[in-house]
Amino acid sequence: MKTLLLWDIDGTLIASGGAGGRALIAALRLEFGVAGSLDGVELAGRTDPWIARKLLAKYELPATAKDIARFLERYLAALPAELHHPLVRPLPGVPEILVTIAGHPEVAQGLLTGNLRRGAEIKLGHHDLWRHFPFGAFSDDSEFRNDLGPHALRRACEHHHAEFPLERVFVIGDTPHDIACGKAIGARTIGVATGHYSAAELHATAATIVVADLSDTLAFLRAVGAE
Ligand SMILES: [Mg+2]
Repeated sequence: MKTLLLWDIDGTLIASGGAGGRALIAALRLEFGVAGSLDGVELAGRTDPWIARKLLAKYELPATAKDIARFLERYLAALPAELHHPLVRPLPGVPEILVTIAGHPEVAQGLLTGNLRRGAEIKLGHHDLWRHFPFGAFSDDSEFRNDLGPHALRRACEHHHAEFPLERVFVIGDTPHDIACGKAIGARTIGVATGHYSAAELHATAATIVVADLSDTLAFLRAVGAE
């Protein structure tokens, strides 16, 4: 294995169609009795515990570790039902790229996501994509996205019994937070303009590569030097 791809989930691999947001609102209501909204709370590129903390603060609820855990348990319970929605789908070309990489002798792939591990499994499993990811870093590791990179690198090394030089590691995501997270570990970065940010906005973050979407498998493999 020579190249390592570390994938974000929402807006990069799948369009979640607001499922995560609806599950958060349901959790707020069921666990804390608040009929709330997500207005004023940034979701894209943030971690689940970070979002939970901001939402509890917004409604002036206590936000101890225990409260956040309660909130997120409810969120995970509400999530599967919310995925049955017409706007929830894999983004263009994603299933093809993941299958191709999974069978590629020189490219490894894992997750680097603000989702909890169980949330990632629920969201990707819904599209039968979870099976492509033998390891990853999740917001169980830290509520701060920039802390997640070293966990992903360590698990990649453990899983493949190999070191990946940072010039062959690509952190792939749809927000400036993903690009910052990749830069924090000295990796290459790929911005994908299928989420809330345009290609121009992702270029402005000085991502190594910016693509409109992932519909061209061959072009993507070329871009990461893995034809
Ligand atoms: Mg994302």
